[in-house]
Amino acid sequence: MAGKVYLVGAGPGDPELLTLKARRLLQEAEVVLYDRLLSPRMMEGLKAELIDVGKSAGRHKLTQEEINQLLIEKAEAGHVVVRLKGGDPFVFGRGGEEALALRERGIAVEVVPGVTSAVAVPELAWIPVTHRHVSTSLTVVTGHEEPGKDNPLDWGALARLGGTLVVLMGVSRLAENTDLLIRGGRSPETPAAIIEKGGWPEQRTVRGTLGTISELAREAGVEPPAILVVGEVVKLAPLLATPRMAIFRARNQMADSVALCQAYGFQAVPAPAIGLKPLELPGDLKERIEGADCVVFTSSNGVEMALKHDLKDALSRTRVAAIGPMTGKALEERGIAVALMPREFSSLGLVEALSGCRKVLLLRSARGSPALVSGLQEKGVEVEDLPIYDLEGSGDPLLDELIRIAAGLDVFAFTSGSTSRYLIKRAREMGMEDQLRRALARARVAAIGPPTADELERLGIRVDVMPERYTFEEMLKAIKESMRPE
Ligand code: SAH
Repeated sequence: MAGKVYLVGAGPGDPELLTLKARRLLQEAEVVLYDRLLSPRMMEGLKAELIDVGKSAGRHKLTQEEINQLLIEKAEAGHVVVRLKGGDPFVFGRGGEEALALRERGIAVEVVPGVTSAVAVPELAWIPVTHRHVSTSLTVVTGHEEPGKDNPLDWGALARLGGTLVVLMGVSRLAENTDLLIRGGRSPETPAAIIEKGGWPEQRTVRGTLGTISELAREAGVEPPAILVVGEVVKLAPLLATPRMAIFRARNQMADSVALCQAYGFQAVPAPAIGLKPLELPGDLKERIEGADCVVFTSSNGVEMALKHDLKDALSRTRVAAIGPMTGKALEERGIAVALMPREFSSLGLVEALSGCRKVLLLRSARGSPALVSGLQEKGVEVEDLPIYDLEGSGDPLLDELIRIAAGLDVFAFTSGSTSRYLIKRAREMGMEDQLRRALARARVAAIGPPTADELERLGIRVDVMPERYTFEEMLKAIKESMRPE
């Protein structure tokens, strides 16, 4: 039986942007020839012979002629062949050339349109390529023409055209092309953006103007694949976008925190940087609890760790203090009444709230702030500081993933100094500290309260946002407020 070749568009990166037809053909194919830079997830579970025709380890990229030959060979051997291409096969995809070569040999060819990056990548960065009253035309060009072409692009004409201009393959000649547009009369103030790896987890956008974008992209280290968008529509992005926010919390608090982030209009990227390590507790802990007139918890983690032990009765016989509402909630959920909660949710606030106690027992992390102990002692309160758990790096693969996509994030929200320490430590182990620091410098960094902010600054990380009241929710509000477009 004669073979057949399907030229199939794969969309811009996210495997869910494959069409149903593309998915079906991939499953039915006997041979799949695919380009470099397509997500390996698209190829998962296929029975076909998979041939990477892009550059891969130790092997050279096939030339267009060699790809055509391979397609012909596989089809003439009677196979059903899928030629999978990024975006749409006929938009700067050389699909037309491959179709012609196959036709010349009398081989059956079918084309399956894909979601083109020219439209989808700006869209995924919240830039509508047309918008009523803003732009009524879309021009798509290549930024990387083969030298010596007969009909070179007329950048002067493109400059005069107005509307939205999308430039594919535009990274290497970005400075030259933006210059040509300005010289052709397009205002250097025209909004412009470059979107790198659209639809991939590490997607990121650099925004500026026609006059500044090439310098900004260079500073940010933008690499292909990336798309340049020039035009007033770029201004819509900050009005439409949901900022992507990394949240650093212990794993057990993550689900609540993610839900809260979403409620405040952020896209949450969980970063469980720390894990909890239980410490051995003294045998007479119940007596110590009953011997104190105030027992203090400074985090919901502490509550969780302590109440793994049978301490509920002992706790019900003393006054229990919580540093803030989350800790209080964790206690109440376990049937323990909260007698004291400070007005300011911090160690300082606690010192105030506890000044009426005679003997205070702190059940908390081994990394707790010494300020709480010294503050209480200054007030003449007897203090026992009993570490019930320690913190350690979480070893969670989600944290590694976050470090890899850091460049695409808009906000980093830290809920403790230790999360920031473990983040940097892990990035260093992965050899990615410099990239992470650049991402932190570009994004907005929030600290839940002063000790977290101090630790970030000690690590050389600039802090942009800190709430007036030190809770996770107040931090989200403060971040939101700080991001309101002027
Ligand atoms: N046929 C493809 C385009 C191929 S040309 C399509 O329809 O999308 C390759 C260029 O497409 C890249 O240089 C880049 O400019 C753009 N591109 C493709 N995928 C992209 C992505 N995920 N993010 C940003 N740009 C992308």
